[in-house]
Amino acid sequence: MDQKIVDQLTELLGQDKASTSEGDMYRHSRDESSHPPVEPDVVVFPDSKEEIVGILSIARENDLPVTPFGAGSGLDGHAIPIKKGISINFERMNRILSFNPEDLTVTVQPGITRKQLNKSINRHGLQFPVDPGADASIGGMVATNASGTTAVRYGSMRDQVLSLEVILADGTVINTGSRAKKSSSGYNLNGLFVGSEGTLGIITAITLKLHGIPEHTVTARCTFKTPGKCAEAAQSILMSGIHVLRMELVDAPSIRQVNLTGEHSFPEEHSLFLEFSGTEASAEEDARLTKELVLEHGGENWERANSTAESKELWRARHELAYSFRHLKGMANSGGDVCVPISQLAEMVVFARELIDKSGLLGGVFGHVGDGNFHTLVVYDPNNPDQVAASARINDLVARKAIEVGGTCTGEHGVGLGKMKYQELEHGPALAVMKSIKQVLDPENRLNPGKIFS
Ligand SMILES: Cc1cc2nc3c(=O)[nH]c(=O)nc-3n(C[C@H](O)[C@H](O)[C@H](O)COP(=O)(O)OP(=O)(O)OC[C@H]3O[C@@H](n4cnc5c(N)ncnc54)[C@H](O)[C@@H]3O)c2cc1C
Repeated sequence: MDQKIVDQLTELLGQDKASTSEGDMYRHSRDESSHPPVEPDVVVFPDSKEEIVGILSIARENDLPVTPFGAGSGLDGHAIPIKKGISINFERMNRILSFNPEDLTVTVQPGITRKQLNKSINRHGLQFPVDPGADASIGGMVATNASGTTAVRYGSMRDQVLSLEVILADGTVINTGSRAKKSSSGYNLNGLFVGSEGTLGIITAITLKLHGIPEHTVTARCTFKTPGKCAEAAQSILMSGIHVLRMELVDAPSIRQVNLTGEHSFPEEHSLFLEFSGTEASAEEDARLTKELVLEHGGENWERANSTAESKELWRARHELAYSFRHLKGMANSGGDVCVPISQLAEMVVFARELIDKSGLLGGVFGHVGDGNFHTLVVYDPNNPDQVAASARINDLVARKAIEVGGTCTGEHGVGLGKMKYQELEHGPALAVMKSIKQVLDPENRLNPGKIFS
């Protein structure tokens, strides 16, 4: 990159806030996916929205693309600057701007991570419950409409955002909502910017709903003969109106993998991991009713955690699960995160499991089945073309079938680079509407170009 542009950025931001160091180039060239890395031309570390307005002005002047970078935990290449240009890192913008416990709201800068936020607010008896496993930034979570294990109870980021401060490509600063819990005023711009993956604007402040920390939780697990039976039981628990906090399918190969790598000793069978919360009486009653339903559906080995340590071990295992497949030496992995109507879930998880079994590859089917959302994770040798093709085929067939049965190719990770090919199939003529919104808000295609649409 022209040194003059780095000098311009340094003049705007001050020393050490515009970097072309090898370490910064490496870190901002990738995320947690297997997509090939691409280094930006320069990484900037702004402190304020005014600085971001200035960065955008320099980008326009020099015709450079701009890609926001949160914690880099995305799973589909969203933050990879495939057209190079400026990567904006928000780690210096990690402050709580206003905390209103009496309203159950907080306004934060985008770089704060969900764990940092919870550390500050938990002592007030409040929590921000969306939990994608990784310690992602709130800005990145908004931009991907993240969710995770607690979505069955609290929903996804789109359900948590009350307002956003967004800087558009031309430097205009807008606010998309208010601190009121609901609104019928105008178009739903919160909904538009949540999940926009950095392609429509740069998010500089986020007002979120908060929730009380429940008095009591009960954690339990049980096993089933097939993943389809797990899904049928999950559907029946939901239909009974029981308030589940978490409900995760972990199939037998995934349990085996996490036992192997994490020194756990769970029964190596298709399992549901469950959690209930509320008052002591309500959480215990929900757990009791669920146990009855599980047994009616052929469930076995119902075990509840008898201590906080046992509960933590179970959720630690669940959170380590993806890593237990992902970090096998010399191997690569590919994955999907489809979401389907709950009535289609049993058929879908059986379909996915059979595809992996037939391929002979190592892989797991697991996920947030309380929402109809599950992951396929397939491990392959990147130097073996047959394995590369087999793994891609599995994810492709699962994504296409999910759309066919009325679902989506991505329940929580976002489109990024890998799911652009399903957008036409999933959205039909609505895709043209999305493209025209992008055209109006970012006519020069400056913001995270090459994502969501090619
Ligand atoms: C082990 C593991 C488990 C995971 N499990 C889940 C899960 O259960 N559920 C789930 O939803 N996700 C999960 N993820 C994926 C990931 O954690 C989420 O996608 C997360 O929301 C990404 O946040 P990030 O801060 O890392 O963002 P990044 O990966 O850095 O960026 C993601 C996108 O956000 C954009 N962006 C970042 N900040 C801004 C901003 N201020 N303004 C505009 N755009 C911005 C980027 O340009 C990019 O398009 C998992 C990841 C890992 C590694």
